[in-house]
Amino acid sequence: MKLQNYINGEYVDPIEGRFLDNMDPSTGRVYGQIPDSGPEDVEQAVQAARKAFPAWSGLSATERSRILLRVSQGIEDQLESLAQAESKDNGKPVKLARTVDIPRARDNFAFYATAILHDASETHDMGSAGFNYTLRRPIGVAGCISPWNLPLYLFTWKIAPALAAGNTVVAKPSEVTPATAFLLSRICMEAGLPPGVLNIVHGTGPRVGEALVAHPDVPLISFTGGTATGARIAAQAAPLFKKLSLELGGKNPTLLFADGDFEAMLSTTVRSSFANQGQICLCGSRILVERSLYPRFIEAFVQRTKALRVGSPLEEATQIGAVVSESHMEKVLGYIALAQEEGGVIACGGKRVVLSGEQSGGYYLEPTVITGLPMQCRTNQEEIFGPVVTVMPFDTEEEALSLANSTRYGLSATVWTSHLTRAHRMAAALEVGIVWVNCWLVRDLRTPFGGVKSSGIGREGGFEALRFFTEPKNVCISL
Ligand code: NAD
Repeated sequence: MKLQNYINGEYVDPIEGRFLDNMDPSTGRVYGQIPDSGPEDVEQAVQAARKAFPAWSGLSATERSRILLRVSQGIEDQLESLAQAESKDNGKPVKLARTVDIPRARDNFAFYATAILHDASETHDMGSAGFNYTLRRPIGVAGCISPWNLPLYLFTWKIAPALAAGNTVVAKPSEVTPATAFLLSRICMEAGLPPGVLNIVHGTGPRVGEALVAHPDVPLISFTGGTATGARIAAQAAPLFKKLSLELGGKNPTLLFADGDFEAMLSTTVRSSFANQGQICLCGSRILVERSLYPRFIEAFVQRTKALRVGSPLEEATQIGAVVSESHMEKVLGYIALAQEEGGVIACGGKRVVLSGEQSGGYYLEPTVITGLPMQCRTNQEEIFGPVVTVMPFDTEEEALSLANSTRYGLSATVWTSHLTRAHRMAAALEVGIVWVNCWLVRDLRTPFGGVKSSGIGREGGFEALRFFTEPKNVCISL
């Protein structure tokens, strides 16, 4: 399949005529081509978005809502083909794409299409002196840049609130997983989204992403991706005073206390460690276990991990698909080697899996559990973003907290305990944006989402995102 950009309501080739290969990580083979766009394509997209802004922002919330609900319905109607496309692009089990990624993309549009109908702005009564009210207006052209791990889910998580709030958008999906963004453009055409309201430019970070971040007519940037990329974007955007939302990397701790429900924490920790091959920013990669529980937990955890089925993403029984690319697989294997150099013991996994037939060239890894490492080593400090976790014991609640907080990241944490006040103490003291207590990945779309420290700035989700994509203006009236 040869993809095209979606600019001003039409499919167009990149101006320079350059294309990149699109790889299928489950086979290691090229299966399509994507535009290798450049700054001129970004320029065209920004001009189309600027032109579309007055009419789109001038629609009532109800009118915008109707169109965005049709996009949501379009995703629902195409659910199976989107799931197949996402699985092929990304290597994730199709079952996961069908049950998590694509339904969530549908829900993102439905959520923001209806959220704008219920948004309100404040009025402050100053008595006889008068009153003040706050107008919240869309800003203009929003630049939305997303990563490869949850391709359509995270792409729509930015686009939907930006459009709902009345902005127009130039969006860049990851060049590693462009297929579902391409399919979304057709759904938008069929839903009657006016030309130029959403523009999708495919290509690399340095050529497309940077041109978007540097563009003087794009006053706000919503980015999800790695921390190093976020730092570069922040530096580029700072002199232009752009509004920025950065959702970055993580090194999330999972804290298991001996009084937790053993079976629930065991099965959920297997999932929170290895779902999507560990390539979810919210996966727990450092498991901290109370010492009295440690022997029982590690034995059962290794046994369950070994039983996970690595296989073709298209097979329904597959639990662990392919990691996203060859270079990513090499990076993860490099960290497994580093862990051993640092004194770690591989309790299970650690190697590439070579499947037979079509999949023999695919990028499969054994889910890997490593023990015996101190918290300050690189394996425990750097984001690996693959099916690799470390497990270590702790003695006291204070020690658990100190270990959990001792990285530069602060995205999420999970705590397993049936001790009520401990759960609240830990939730308050963990330096993260999201804490799960006795669960994982359970989140109401109305809540703010984001990290602290090197995991990002700003919050997405809920009404926070509508705040990000609008600028408040205070109007002061005297009586
Ligand atoms: P990445 O930073 O390499 O790329 C993300 C996006 O930015 C891609 O579209 C890429 O093309 C683009 N990009 C790259 N360089 C750029 C530049 N200089 N200017 C502008 N855009 C540029 O990240 P990735 O490898 O695609 O994704 C994995 C990372 O994303 C992990 O670190 C993961 O933790 C993080 N992530 C965070 C969240 C969150 O919500 N905090 C969610 C998912 C993934």
